[in-house]
Amino acid sequence: MEQVDVVVIGSGQGGVPLAVNLSREGKRTVLFEKRSLGGSCLNYGCYPSKAFLAAAHDAGVRRRAAGFGVDIKAEIDFARLMGRVRSKIDSSYIKKSLDKAGVQTIMAEAAFTGVRTVAGGGQEFQAETVIINTGNAPLVPPVPGLDKTPYMTYINFWEINEMPARILVIGGGYIGVELGQGLAELGAEVHIIETAERIVAREEPDLSQVLASALADDGVVFHLGRQAKQVRHDGNVFTLTLDNNETLEGEALLVVAGQKPNTVSLNCAAGGVELTDRGFVKVNDRLENTSPGVYAIGDVTGQPAFTHVSWEDYRRLMSILKGGSRRQMDRVLGYAFYTEPEAGRCGLTIDQAREQGLDARAVTLPLERVARAWLSDRTNGFFRLAVENGTDKILGATLVGPRASDLVHVFIDLMEAGATWRDLEKSVHIHPAFAEGLPTLARLLL
Ligand SMILES: Cc1cc2nc3c(=O)[nH]c(=O)nc-3n(C[C@H](O)[C@H](O)[C@H](O)COP(=O)(O)OP(=O)(O)OC[C@H]3O[C@@H](n4cnc5c(N)ncnc54)[C@H](O)[C@@H]3O)c2cc1C
Repeated sequence: MEQVDVVVIGSGQGGVPLAVNLSREGKRTVLFEKRSLGGSCLNYGCYPSKAFLAAAHDAGVRRRAAGFGVDIKAEIDFARLMGRVRSKIDSSYIKKSLDKAGVQTIMAEAAFTGVRTVAGGGQEFQAETVIINTGNAPLVPPVPGLDKTPYMTYINFWEINEMPARILVIGGGYIGVELGQGLAELGAEVHIIETAERIVAREEPDLSQVLASALADDGVVFHLGRQAKQVRHDGNVFTLTLDNNETLEGEALLVVAGQKPNTVSLNCAAGGVELTDRGFVKVNDRLENTSPGVYAIGDVTGQPAFTHVSWEDYRRLMSILKGGSRRQMDRVLGYAFYTEPEAGRCGLTIDQAREQGLDARAVTLPLERVARAWLSDRTNGFFRLAVENGTDKILGATLVGPRASDLVHVFIDLMEAGATWRDLEKSVHIHPAFAEGLPTLARLLL
């Protein structure tokens, strides 16, 4: 067994920069990765999905353009499209930066063998600091028959070269909604099966409603409040029986029904590393586990599963390891759905604010009242702002509409700066940008 300063398990968004920076600072650092360097974002998450959606949304423009009197005929070369998507997955630069920084990278699954002792690939290390950055894995529901079929998850979806004529998508969370819409825009018949009564069910109901109507316009068929009861595959076609005995058929089946933490094979008990009831690594607000010297970052801690959360955890943990004051929740959380229209969220919803006992109110501006949206016939959506009475603090925002993933940064920045809605109300935004609607939204509070 070798003695080192730092062991990082998993090369996700935070693990790689932590390993590189700690090694550069002279710490003897070992990094284990069991699959592909760069983790889910690069290899089967954000990168391929947003490269795919760039093409799909361009194809989807033909439906929207028809309303302007512009008729576009799309010819989809799906193999070329997917080849381009795969070309965006390249982790060679990560290996180079790890090597340059002097990190010992071991491409193997790692597990605890003792307190701050980790083994994998035939090597074992005892370290002063162990950082767990193992992320999430697809959650596959126990549907009878499913395991005997060649279903896809978000891990292998990117390998297909032939567009399925009909695709069944189990899961109406944001991954199912993004990919389902993309496939429909490209011309597939898409069915989304969701156990909740609405898609993206954790979001505000009218956000779900806007996305549901946009996807329905693209041809997506929803089966809401339904569960898959049985799956069969006859060599070509999947047959899915729902709990109301309806049967659906498709040439492909994509299971995107949630995620679970990658902790099962870590043998955390051997390291004295405590997990939560749901199997995430338990951490305090300094990202440290109950086993001193063991830290965890990113998805595996049960935080909202986003790349920028894990990446910022790297900066937080660098500060914490040096005795700094950063803490797990010391940020405004924002995220987006890259559907068409997009959704951008940050901070609290009005319901969350009231649940926290805050004296809050919210205003909503329908996109019909934003000149650019009206001129572009893109009025399916709204801007919403939640504020605290008395202090005028901005508590959160929900934007659904064109460019919402970018526009929401106005609120993230205002909130970080401690600005109030009155600062936004005073701002003169450019006419007729979509962002012109943001001060208009704030003026509803006057
Ligand atoms: C289809 C899809 C689309 C997404 N789109 C977005 C988006 O648009 N924006 C966004 O912010 N987020 C998006 N996400 C989420 C984002 O990808 C993750 O939240 C982010 O990558 C989490 O990073 P992480 O550092 O926690 O772990 P990961 O990036 O998941 O890395 C964990 C790594 O640990 C490795 N590992 C696991 N166990 C072991 C072990 N025992 N030993 C060694 N290695 C191990 C894994 O192989 C993996 O490489 C998307 C995810 C998916 C699936």
